[in-house]
Amino acid sequence: MASLPYIVGNWKMNGTRASLSEARAIDRGAARLPKVQVAIAPPATLLHRTREAVELIGIGGQDCHAKDSGAFTGDTSAAMLKDAGADFTIVGHSERRTLHGETDADVRAKAEAALGAGLAVILCVGETEGERDAGNAESVVGGQLEGSCPHSDGAVDKLTVAYEPVWAIGTGRVPSVDDVAAMHKAIRAKLVSIYGEAGAGVRILYGGSVKAENASELLSIRDVGGALVGGASLTAESFLAIVGAAAALEDN
Ligand code: PEP
Repeated sequence: MASLPYIVGNWKMNGTRASLSEARAIDRGAARLPKVQVAIAPPATLLHRTREAVELIGIGGQDCHAKDSGAFTGDTSAAMLKDAGADFTIVGHSERRTLHGETDADVRAKAEAALGAGLAVILCVGETEGERDAGNAESVVGGQLEGSCPHSDGAVDKLTVAYEPVWAIGTGRVPSVDDVAAMHKAIRAKLVSIYGEAGAGVRILYGGSVKAENASELLSIRDVGGALVGGASLTAESFLAIVGAAAALEDN
């Protein structure tokens, strides 16, 4: 049976207690759209309060450290995210890979730590504009998957992959339908080569400038199992419009 479309909001470094009203509104809206699985990843400072504020939607971290505890000033472990109420964490977001120099090996270690702490994982991959222009998008993304997919027992069952072309994040630009379809097909093939048959069941999200206006088109593409949404997830109104688009496709 096909899984429900999964729409995940990444709040990045945005949000204070005042934003809990948006989380509550997203939760109420999601309750009216049961054919869609909805989650948000607020900043770590809001995880616990968000967990208490919502009833239905999933809650996740945006990153975790690969170690359980220790002298890592400023970092947050997967066990801490879990303790604060997280169900999952994002790892390997391009802003972490670029701004914090995270390698595929780092991302894999974080994914393994998250799974070990009982969290599901959303693993981000994506090419830069230069890599796409050079015709290397699929090989770059394939290499990221080979280098960063977790391998511990049961990993594949708790894994979601998010394809996020770096040049589409926060820019208002999105790849063509054909390019998204080709990349998701390539990611599917790579997941099957890594995990065998189980790789066919891993949900693959698209991320990068998803908005209400383009959500239906993007979510209709074969092998696009949902969306990872940045800017448009910060208000319930814009985020629920995307969730609503996903729900409408399920109704058709
Ligand atoms: C993201 O950073 O994960 C993202 C998809 O951002 P945006 O939707 O703002 O492009």
